[in-house]
Amino acid sequence: MVKDLSYFHLPKINSSTLYSILKRFIKVFIPKELLRQTEPFLRNIYSIFYFGNKVECAVCGNHHSKFIVLKNGVDTLCANCGSLPRNRLLWMYLSNELNIKTTHYSLLHFSPAKSIKRKLKELKNIEYTTTDYEKGEDKQFDITSINDDDNRYDLIICYHVFEHIVEDAKAMKELFRVLKSGGKALLQVPLKEGDTYEDFSITSPTERLKHFGQDDHVRIYGNNNFEERLKNAGFMVKAVPYATNFSDETIVRNGLNKQELIFVCTKK
Ligand SMILES: [Zn+2]
Repeated sequence: MVKDLSYFHLPKINSSTLYSILKRFIKVFIPKELLRQTEPFLRNIYSIFYFGNKVECAVCGNHHSKFIVLKNGVDTLCANCGSLPRNRLLWMYLSNELNIKTTHYSLLHFSPAKSIKRKLKELKNIEYTTTDYEKGEDKQFDITSINDDDNRYDLIICYHVFEHIVEDAKAMKELFRVLKSGGKALLQVPLKEGDTYEDFSITSPTERLKHFGQDDHVRIYGNNNFEERLKNAGFMVKAVPYATNFSDETIVRNGLNKQELIFVCTKK
């Protein structure tokens, strides 16, 4: 007689659910500072489950059987370094177009993704400053009033920050001010089709989540207006669909998003 073991069957969970369960579990049981130090090691162990050579991460150089698909069903994460599509595309742009590994830059990086920060910190040819409104980076600049000199940096990276800032025009002007003449700012925000939607009477996290897609966002930029706002701050702006420079095969292998735009802004 065959014994029914269905009672012992574990519920089927996909990799994205497993990843978020593990992440939540680790966040509860490992103190923040220890987690910061051990994160690369923990990711390294986890990446064993993704052993293979179907996809490749431009940031850490590791290859895997697949990327981890996040809950939103769009973003894909490198199992080894935690890079997102936008981090991988940014690293490719920095490496291929700006020769970041060999050229000297004074670089100011707002709210850096850990995967990219680790790589940039290794480079001896750049003077690299990270900043965030929370503690944990080199500086704690207020982006609307940066406590630094005019014309100070050759390169600024500011990804997914303006959508958190009520006074975004002020923030953009500040980036323009601290950027050197001839310097470049690589900027990005989440974008939707059409006009920018903002309503500053919406202040509660629940309402912000409902209206702007995240509980700490104050607007959703529309592709009709974002460029214009940057130009108003003084920048010359080029919206670069950088992933389209690569073959479909490379896009899939590197987990890139073809629609993604990097706003390459220059100061005359
Ligand atoms: Zn990686």
